[in-house]
Amino acid sequence: MTYDTLILGAGAAGMMCAAHCGGRVLVIDHAKAAGEKIRISGGGRCNFTNMYAEPANFLSQNPHFCKSALARYTQWDFVSLVDSYGIKWHEKTLGQLFCDNSAKDIIALLRDLMDKAGAQLWLETAVESVSQSDGLFHARLVRGGKPLTVSARRVVLATGGKSIPKMGATGIAYQIAESFGLQVTETRPALVPLTFSAQPFAPISGTAIPGRVRAGNGSFDEAVLFTHRGLSGPAILQASSYWTEGDSVHLSLCPENDWMAILRQARSDTPRRQIGTALAEHLPKKLAQHLDEAWGLQDQLANTTDKRLAEVAELLADWELTPTGSEGYRTAEVTLGGIDTDGLSSKTMEAKDVPGLYAIGECVDVTGWLGGYNFQWAWSSAMACARAIAESD
Ligand SMILES: Cc1cc2nc3c(=O)[nH]c(=O)nc-3n(C[C@H](O)[C@H](O)[C@H](O)COP(=O)(O)OP(=O)(O)OC[C@H]3O[C@@H](n4cnc5c(N)ncnc54)[C@H](O)[C@@H]3O)c2cc1C
Repeated sequence: MTYDTLILGAGAAGMMCAAHCGGRVLVIDHAKAAGEKIRISGGGRCNFTNMYAEPANFLSQNPHFCKSALARYTQWDFVSLVDSYGIKWHEKTLGQLFCDNSAKDIIALLRDLMDKAGAQLWLETAVESVSQSDGLFHARLVRGGKPLTVSARRVVLATGGKSIPKMGATGIAYQIAESFGLQVTETRPALVPLTFSAQPFAPISGTAIPGRVRAGNGSFDEAVLFTHRGLSGPAILQASSYWTEGDSVHLSLCPENDWMAILRQARSDTPRRQIGTALAEHLPKKLAQHLDEAWGLQDQLANTTDKRLAEVAELLADWELTPTGSEGYRTAEVTLGGIDTDGLSSKTMEAKDVPGLYAIGECVDVTGWLGGYNFQWAWSSAMACARAIAESD
C-alpha cells in the first residue's frame, strides 16, 4: 500500500491538511472518531479562532517561526470557510469566536472537505514508528490489533501534544521526529490550573474575582478562580504558560481598583471598622475573610497609619504566590514546547534535513494563548504544509 501522503493524526491539523493537500492521502488515528478535541473544545462549541490572532499570542523558542503560516492563512480565511458552510458563530469575549450550535459542525466541515478531496481515513489505527528506505517512508501501524506497514512518499506528523492522555494524547510525534534526527524542546503542560500542596484556598474554593496575573513576562487581565487545589480561571490558565516550577505568580485583585484610595476613604467614612471588614465591601465575602486571617487585617481603621494602609494596598495589588505545581497533562489544554522549529521550514513545515517529513499543529514548538489561538495555529500550519505538498506534485 503506497500513498502520496500519510497523515498521522486526525485532529484539527491533520484533517485540515488532508482536506487541502491533494493526491492519494491516508489519514490514520487511533481514536474511535476524528477530531475528538475539537468536539469537546470550548465547552462543546469550539472556540475555533480569535479575531485578534497575531504572532505575539504564541510562545515558541523562535517567536518568528509562526509568522509566515499565520500571515498566509489567517483567522479571516478560516472564518470565510466556516461561513461558506453556513455555520453560525458569535464572539464570546476578547475576540474569541465560537460556533452558535456545536463543535461538531467544525468536525463535519473538515470531514466533508476530506471526503471531497478523496482522503481516506482509518480510525482505531495507531502508529508506532516510521522509517525511511528506497525513497519512501514506512509507517508501522496497528490496526484492529494487527500490525501492518503503510508506505508513502511523504509523512505529516499531526498527532498533537501530550495533553489529556485519557483522550488519546501520546508523545509519538516527538519520538518519530527524534528518530529522524530532529530536536524536541522541553515540553510541559500549559493552559493549566496551578496547585498548592497546602491547599490554602480550599475553604474559599469556587470564589471568582477579576484579576491581573503576572508570571514570567506574561500578564493577563481576566477572571481568577480559587479552587480546592489552588488557582484556576482564564487569567491563571494564560499565565501558566509563562510559569515554571519554583517561580511565583503575582496576583492583582480587582486591578481597576485604587486600593489605597479605597482604604483611606473607608478610614474616613467608617473609622471604627476593621480593615478586613472594610475590604468585604469590595471583595467577595469569603475572600475578604480569608485575607483577614491570612494577612492579619483586624486593626481598626482609625488606628491604622498610612504606612500600614499602603502595605495592605500593595498586597492587594501585587499578591505574590508560589504554586507547588500544576494539574499536569491530565487537564492541560495544550503542551508547551515540542518539535524544535529550527529543524523545520516556516513556509512549508517540512523538516529541513528530511525532505518529505512534515510536522504541523500542537506537536510543533508553537503554543497559543487561551482563546482560539491554538486551533488557528492548527489551521495555519496545516495549510502551509498542504499548499507546499499540493504545489510539489
Ligand atoms: C479540553 C480542551 C479544550 C480545548 N479548547 C480549545 C478551544 O476552544 N480553542 C482552541 O484554539 N484550542 C483549544 N484546545 C487546544 C486544541 O484542542 C489543540 O491545540 C488542537 O486540538 C491541536 O490540534 P492537533 O491537530 O495538533 O492535535 P490534536 O487535535 O490533539 O489531534 C491529534 C490526533 O492524533 C491522534 N494520535 C495521538 N497519538 C496517536 C498515535 N500514536 N497513533 C494514532 N493517532 C494518534 C489523537 O487521537 C488525535 O486525534 C483545547 C484543548 C483541550 C484539551
